[in-house]
Amino acid sequence: MPDLLSIADARAVVEAAIRPLEDESLAVAAALGRVLAEDVAAGHDVPPFASSAMDGFAIRAGHAGRTLTIAGESRAGHPSGAPLSEGRAARISTGAAIPDGADAVLEIELATVDGGAVTLGAAAAPGRNVRPAGDDLRAGTVVLAAGTRLGPAELGVAVAAGRAQLRCGRRPRVAVVSTGDELVAPGEPLAPGQIHNSNAVTLGALALQAGARVRTVGGALDTRADTEVALAAALEQADVVLVSGGVSVGPHDHVKPALEALDVHRRFWGVALRPGKPTWFGTHDDRLVFGLPGNPVSSMVTFLLFARPALHALQGAPFAAARRTALLSEAVPRQRARDEAVRVRLATDAGGTLRATPTGPQGSHRQSSMLGADALALVTAGEGEAAAGAPVPVEPI
Ligand code: AMP
Ligand code: MG
Repeated sequence: MPDLLSIADARAVVEAAIRPLEDESLAVAAALGRVLAEDVAAGHDVPPFASSAMDGFAIRAGHAGRTLTIAGESRAGHPSGAPLSEGRAARISTGAAIPDGADAVLEIELATVDGGAVTLGAAAAPGRNVRPAGDDLRAGTVVLAAGTRLGPAELGVAVAAGRAQLRCGRRPRVAVVSTGDELVAPGEPLAPGQIHNSNAVTLGALALQAGARVRTVGGALDTRADTEVALAAALEQADVVLVSGGVSVGPHDHVKPALEALDVHRRFWGVALRPGKPTWFGTHDDRLVFGLPGNPVSSMVTFLLFARPALHALQGAPFAAARRTALLSEAVPRQRARDEAVRVRLATDAGGTLRATPTGPQGSHRQSSMLGADALALVTAGEGEAAAGAPVPVEPI
């Protein structure tokens, strides 16, 4: 294996290889989870007109104790039409337009109605219970920036801003290939030496969560020919190929020569990382190929560190992974030459400090170490241990 890259250098290589995918127009309701490819400006003020924050009476501001003649009503969706003159009050509902001439709303609970007249139980300063036009969003201002991932709140703001369609980055097509003679499909009985193929499912699920459309190409046996056939099929239908296993230095690891034969240009092989040292990355035109180590935790960790930011960036989101600092709640032995991605639970203690607790034994074959993990704590290489209380960068899973 050539010299190992640092995690940061390996990420920089992946980032440099990314050409964001083209964008497409989507109905707002179909854009959940997608990445916005344009700035969205409010097409008009929101609210579009001055409106009432309460059910009550639209009035002119003034002192308490006044008795006004009730004239007309402004309901949501049905403005009163007539301007309000001196000595009058109009019934008004929450969200209804403030009539011209009125500048305050007195809550219904503070008004005493007697026939066609209302007596005001409180003084009303100008603007009381009035939501000015544009109080929420101002016409012409950018309310959602390109690169934003669209959640329910962003979709709501887009609609309020006047939009029915949004331009979003296309979803990357991901093909998952798993290699290994030992693999059998979920639920199949296991003959001696066999294991269930869990990576195809975890990698597919991770890619789906990162916004991709996923195609599982299926398993490749540990022969050069079978590996090449599976990878050729994957390259044909995908923007991103995730291949698990077969990238190490064993005599039955055929992924690297197969990819090179398929004209996939190697960008790196080997990261100073545990788990995940044999991670391989290459490109074919604009297509990205991630050769991920077969151990189930290694494949998930390397997906999270390298492939997930790439899938986000292909859709037009920033490549950078979210990162915070937490204090280790227990000592962690350090690797001499490789940074370690320790699976941790995060909790904020009573003093407001974020603490990271390892999920238990951290072997790369221990899928249980991923259960309940909130984040990867990146413990830098070195002698001895990282002490309890030491600050570490953590990246949410
Ligand atoms: P490899 O990277 O091919 O040398 O595989 C390393 C370890 O991961 C071996 O113990 C494999 O049996 C295991 N492994 C490889 N592929 C998978 C998979 N798809 N699902 C679960 N375990 C796997
Ligand atoms: Mg293998």
